[in-house]
Amino acid sequence: MSESTIQLYNQDSHRKTFEAVVLTCVEQIRENSDANPRYVVTLDATAFFPEGGGQPSDTGTINGIAVFNVREDDGIIFHTLAAPLTVGETVTGKIDWARRFDLMQHHTAEHIISGLVHKYFGYDNVGFHMGSEAINIDFNGNLTEADIRRVEFDANGAVYENIPIEISYPNPEELKSLNYRSKKELSGNIRIVTIPGYDTCACCAPHVALTGEIGGIKINSCQKYKSGVRVSMLCGTRALQDYNIKEKSVADISVLLSAKPQEVQETVKNLKNENLSLKGRLSNLQNQILNYKAAAVPEGTNSICIFDNDITANFLRPYANLLMERCSGICAVFTSTDDREYKYILAGKSTDVRPLGKSLNEAFQGKGGGSREMVQGSLTGDRRLIDKFMADLTV
Ligand SMILES: [Zn+2]
Repeated sequence: MSESTIQLYNQDSHRKTFEAVVLTCVEQIRENSDANPRYVVTLDATAFFPEGGGQPSDTGTINGIAVFNVREDDGIIFHTLAAPLTVGETVTGKIDWARRFDLMQHHTAEHIISGLVHKYFGYDNVGFHMGSEAINIDFNGNLTEADIRRVEFDANGAVYENIPIEISYPNPEELKSLNYRSKKELSGNIRIVTIPGYDTCACCAPHVALTGEIGGIKINSCQKYKSGVRVSMLCGTRALQDYNIKEKSVADISVLLSAKPQEVQETVKNLKNENLSLKGRLSNLQNQILNYKAAAVPEGTNSICIFDNDITANFLRPYANLLMERCSGICAVFTSTDDREYKYILAGKSTDVRPLGKSLNEAFQGKGGGSREMVQGSLTGDRRLIDKFMADLTV
């Protein structure tokens, strides 16, 4: 059995470059034979953190060759590279530090938040997802808005205190008397990450050295999830970027509304109410217009075919109802926004309008249907042709 890889990230989470000797290099068998080749390399030591504890694996380069993925199996760390390395040579590894630092900031913040939630409310962290957009933490209990703000405030307090993070490997006896958070039953050499005063947790991932490095913790949302809640948060630069996006959004809305940024919510509320009352007035006016239009049709008219683009589709039915009171035959109304595609209604007090609807649909690639008295649908065609078709059929 091969010897375990020396895990330099465990000795120093801030190690960005390192030198190591290549122990093995094997071409990876890929399912897609057209895909670019990949090589799996092991080294005597590495600063590349493999996936673990909810934290994705590091990326970076070894001798300038891209490292896509890093995983650990039984103490050996495997690096997936774009090109091969020579066994026995000494190579220089460089991790993508900006990415790793960002992950460490969020991971340590997650420990602080989970520790506080556990201390204040007794809930467990039951899920942790570090995405490129959001960092989510799932808890098995409900948190109110006030709870969230309390946790956020105190978590930032931990940042201001700039507390050194302690990493330890207690022996089984010491572990028994230690009160620590853990997602599963652990065995072997347990690594404990302690943020004094805030959290003690079993975790294999690299963390920032001092809580001040987190820069700031913002909880962006807390939504019901399964039997508890999902908390989304951002730290450091990502929190700042998020703030910038939201600030710009409010500033742009404020210009659009000609309202001060702190008044946009009230202004939007007023606009919505105004819009609602305008819709009500518009609907009343449209009903009045329908009545006038229908009154213009002489009583005792037999069948009538009307093209009126001022009638919106949702007013076809009330208009047809008014027309039916004045016509003994078939009332047809067509409306269009482009004089090409029409919405239509056919209504008849004493005539079954379904056969007419069927013929109309067949002639003008239409669709729709309805009852004996009323058929609604849409079709495509030239107004003159539709008019002629109706005149021929309803005569
Ligand atoms: Zn952790």
